[in-house]
Amino acid sequence: MDELKGLIFSIEEFAVYDGPGIRTSVFFKGCPLRCNWCHNPEGLEMRAQIVRSPNGCLGCGRCDAIAKKHGGEYTQEAADACPRHLLRPSGVWYGADELCAKLLKNADLLRAGGGGVTFSGGECLMQADFLTEVAKKLHGKLHLAIQTSGYAPADKLRGLLPYLDLVMFDLKLLDAAQFRKYIGGDLSVVLRSFRIAAESGVELLPRTPLIPGVTDTPENLNAVAETIASAGLHKAELLAYNKMAGSKYKLIGKTYAPMFDESKAGVPDLTPFKERGIEVRIL
Ligand code: SF4
Repeated sequence: MDELKGLIFSIEEFAVYDGPGIRTSVFFKGCPLRCNWCHNPEGLEMRAQIVRSPNGCLGCGRCDAIAKKHGGEYTQEAADACPRHLLRPSGVWYGADELCAKLLKNADLLRAGGGGVTFSGGECLMQADFLTEVAKKLHGKLHLAIQTSGYAPADKLRGLLPYLDLVMFDLKLLDAAQFRKYIGGDLSVVLRSFRIAAESGVELLPRTPLIPGVTDTPENLNAVAETIASAGLHKAELLAYNKMAGSKYKLIGKTYAPMFDESKAGVPDLTPFKERGIEVRIL
């Protein structure tokens, strides 16, 4: 049988915001959702892409002229045309053993720093079979976490959970119509995954990105707090709006188009969490 392979667009070492301790973060390519505020657009497509670095650019426009012929997307032809070699492929295929060997190289350091490995994306569950294979091989050797939107088939999630130590779960927007508008997709899939994760006994940490006027509204935060409390959980994290969210779009020839007013980012009212005895951290 052919070896399972996974498409990864970045591996970041010594990460400190992607779970407990010092961690290696592995970013999987591909996401079934399209959050309007996504700050990792190079992770959305489940295929290798060409990404342009702005540092050292001469402004000669050769890459953009070629990209124009391809709907604005940078191609290998555009990469070859750049006199400064500023266009590089994003997305590398790894075999499970190859990725595990790379992650285990720093195992002692990660354990000493109270950390481990976090699988993120894109949406890491979009490559659930490969991820499960990797997690099986690393289980018990490193603390393993995922960052997920929960947008995945139930059986894929159930198959992975026994090999994880922590699930950081995005509860972003809990109104079905708003979810469809700003994120794309069916909210019930997320809620089903949240129930499965909560019932699994694996440590579950709900996280909500604070998007001005969209997810940070009293109604949404109240719904998030209620969902967390109903699952018997007592901790949550709120992620402050990333003002650099749009900065990577030009790297892939796209434009950031938020459907909300970025300048309205404020301090959220934590009352719904406090009322339910939920300890909240704002990151
Ligand atoms: S071809 Fe290279 S140097 Fe010229 S505009 Fe594009 S990135 Fe900049």
